[in-house]
Amino acid sequence: MSKLAGKVAVITGGNSGLGLATAKRFVEEGAFVYITGRRQEELDKAVALIGANAAAVQGDVQSIEDLDRLFARIRQEQGGIDVLVANSGIVAPQTLLEATEDNFDKTFGVNVRGLYFTVNRALPLLSDGASVIVVSSIAANKGAAGYGTYSASKAAVRSFVRTWTAELIERGIRVNTLSPGPFDTPIMDLQASTPEGREAVRANWAASIPMKRLGRPDELAAAALFLASDESSFIAGIDLIVDGGMTAL
Ligand code: NAP
Repeated sequence: MSKLAGKVAVITGGNSGLGLATAKRFVEEGAFVYITGRRQEELDKAVALIGANAAAVQGDVQSIEDLDRLFARIRQEQGGIDVLVANSGIVAPQTLLEATEDNFDKTFGVNVRGLYFTVNRALPLLSDGASVIVVSSIAANKGAAGYGTYSASKAAVRSFVRTWTAELIERGIRVNTLSPGPFDTPIMDLQASTPEGREAVRANWAASIPMKRLGRPDELAAAALFLASDESSFIAGIDLIVDGGMTAL
């Protein structure tokens, strides 16, 4: 039976990688899905790929105006939201020695501020019993050279999940963290400047995972479906790690 029949879902950063795989899976399970992102062309391609029951709303999570426009449209078209996946994120490796204000502000602007106001602006639309999924990373609990701002931004959003669980649990809204390990998505390409470098990034991450391969986006989508659906009805405030054993071993 479809696990999200009749549900309305919103996935920020749904035009690529993990967000797109999740959007596809949610639609297969009966949901109507709104995807967002800055690049209209990628949004159009994603909607065509998903095929039906999906709509794209262009916008930057750093812009309150864009967020308000997104949720105003959903209010008008659907009246409410059952599942929110706050997934938009960027990585821009830089060591402490190389630190720039621009890197700090961009990483925290998208990954933390953008996510914070995404959930804040969605709140009036969330149905009682809604599921909110915050995409963090196993990087939140690890030290890897060059990932200072990224890892700290992901630790911040994991922290939000605890507070928001406390604030929303009485409405039956479940907030959970979903923490991927390394997955094969375009975000890997942001971690090197040449094709050889990008290949090396993928190979190095794969070698560091006990399963000796990168995750496939559909494997993250399956975990997102679990948190989105009633299958996880007694789960709130957790960090669901999907990483091929990387954190545990
Ligand atoms: P991706 O393919 O690069 O997707 C990132 C998404 O975020 C894109 O849809 C992008 O769309 C959107 N985005 C970026 N900046 C945005 C902004 N300012 N406003 C709105 N949307 C924005 O990478 P991914 O791997 O699927 O990443 C999804 C999430 O998983 C991220 O939060 C990432 O940190 C997390 N994660 C990924 C991995 C991994 O190995 N892949 C591991 C751990 C955590 P536009 O560019 O069109 O805006």
